[in-house]
Amino acid sequence: MASISLANSRASQLNNLDSCSSMAELKQRHACIVKLGLSSDNDAMGRVIKFCSLSKSADLDYALKVFDTLPRPDAFIYNTIFRGYLQEHMYRRCIVLYAKMLDSFVTPNKFSFPPVIRACCVDLAVKEGKQVHAQVIKFGFGQDSFCQNNLIHMYVNFDSLEEGRRVFDNLEKKDDVSWTTLISGYSSQGFVGEALGIFESLPVKNSAAWNAVIAAFVQNNRFHEAISLFNRMRNENVSIDKFVAASMLSACTGLGALKQGEWIHDYINSSGIEVDAKLATTIIDMYCKCGCVDKALELFNGLSCKGISSWNCMIGGLAMHGKGKAAIDLFKKMEAATARPDYITFVNVLTACAHSGLVEEGRYYFSYMTEAYGIVPGIEHYGCFVDLLGRAGLLVEARKVIDDMPVRADAGVLGALLGACRIHGNIDMAEEIGKQVIELDPNNSGRYVLLANLYAKAGRWEEVANIRKLMNDRGVKKVAGFSIVELEGSVNEFIAGGRTHPQATEIYAKVEEMLGCIKDLGYVPDSDGLVYDVSEEEMENPLHYHSEKLAIAFSLLKSKHGETIRITKNLRVCKDCHRASKLISKAFDREIIVRDRNRFHHFKGGLCSCNDYW
Ligand code: ZN
Ligand code: ZN
Repeated sequence: MASISLANSRASQLNNLDSCSSMAELKQRHACIVKLGLSSDNDAMGRVIKFCSLSKSADLDYALKVFDTLPRPDAFIYNTIFRGYLQEHMYRRCIVLYAKMLDSFVTPNKFSFPPVIRACCVDLAVKEGKQVHAQVIKFGFGQDSFCQNNLIHMYVNFDSLEEGRRVFDNLEKKDDVSWTTLISGYSSQGFVGEALGIFESLPVKNSAAWNAVIAAFVQNNRFHEAISLFNRMRNENVSIDKFVAASMLSACTGLGALKQGEWIHDYINSSGIEVDAKLATTIIDMYCKCGCVDKALELFNGLSCKGISSWNCMIGGLAMHGKGKAAIDLFKKMEAATARPDYITFVNVLTACAHSGLVEEGRYYFSYMTEAYGIVPGIEHYGCFVDLLGRAGLLVEARKVIDDMPVRADAGVLGALLGACRIHGNIDMAEEIGKQVIELDPNNSGRYVLLANLYAKAGRWEEVANIRKLMNDRGVKKVAGFSIVELEGSVNEFIAGGRTHPQATEIYAKVEEMLGCIKDLGYVPDSDGLVYDVSEEEMENPLHYHSEKLAIAFSLLKSKHGETIRITKNLRVCKDCHRASKLISKAFDREIIVRDRNRFHHFKGGLCSCNDYW
């Protein structure tokens, strides 16, 4: 009788341990079972350790204290602590404990390896990781997909794609995770072709695999291919989940393909895909970057729960569109909603000030971020601040900010000042800054062109030739300028002077007509530009065949009257195209929205939202 009641009481005590709701309660029950003489019992203590390591109210130190009292902890207990360490990001200690486990002759089981491999992976412990791999095989888990998938991921993270591939190839029963891990691995290192090859060899392609390969193209900025894969996926009737939807929204954002983005958004709404904070932010970002800042704002205002990234995204969106005052108002609302701004928030607030010429506000927020929130300005904040002061013509002050920076100015910060020198024609400062920028960013053609431009304006042709020579000697390639316009469900790409579009003849005729119309409004092709101010767009191409002019002509041909024209361009808009776009918006009574490398230009009635500072 006595032994039965003891057994009952032991069982109920153990069950009690599993149902604890707080550390205080656990400590009490722990004391009870110690009194029952169970302080060396692995089953009982394993439950205590599990609660302390992994529950919501985890207290890993307590778990470790209990662990240290155990004479012979078993594999289950070791595994629990491994996971506890991972949860606390204590990767090195996880690896050390694993070594101790082996030293104590405790045999690891299949649940021991995944956390240890993950620890090696994150800690970039290459040597230890390889040893663990050998032990996985030694202990007989060479075909355990859970262990093997973790190994694939580890090798990918070590940049050892070949090793990862070998593990994958040796695995007889590959599951979804094996395939997607390898696809993402190749993609993360830019080998999109290989990622696609692996995907194609997958016998049954489910949505996880589709998502991995679509995400691979999106991450590598190959948006067109991502969209065609997506269309293939739809044709094969694979269901679209929130991950695919998010990847596709990013592809549309990259291309500025509003119609397709709207389609995805409608699809999300109608198919009942759960819109979490992250997806909501992706949708808002898509509308911002496809030029529909009002729609973005409407969605943002409708969010029941606004996370920091939603606030940042919306403030940044308003900034890009030159709506500086609105961005600052939103920032104030954010503070009022007791959402704590972070580093990125202030980058966006300062960008807003810079794009709208709000000098006083910019000065204020530049010091406010430290005073109110203790955020020390980083290189991005300095970049925005210098940009702001420079654009406003305060070149000397901007220069002083750079000189007083606690960190060394990078090409971004100096480039902002160089850009300001261009706007305000300060050749002396430009020369000095330009040389530094070129040395800091020697492969960026835009830096050379900008300086050459300034020399050209000053008539210093010898220096212009020197810069060209320097570019040639260093083999610096100019980035080809292109503009994208989405019409009738397809994405059309134009390059300067390109004639590959099926309707090229019509388009070029329209360009001539367009330019004829705006000449009546006083358009004179920029003569400076004809010589040099063509920014990075192919210098050999006459100004009137720059990619955005072709894209505008095409849109005028193909879209209905009154429809807004939306163009995405990879480079900065040149001076001549900017002036022409303003006049075209007036002559043809069309709103034209151009997203260039840095910001949005809303051309309407002969004016631009950037007030000619860009
Ligand atoms: Zn141009
Ligand atoms: Zn503009």
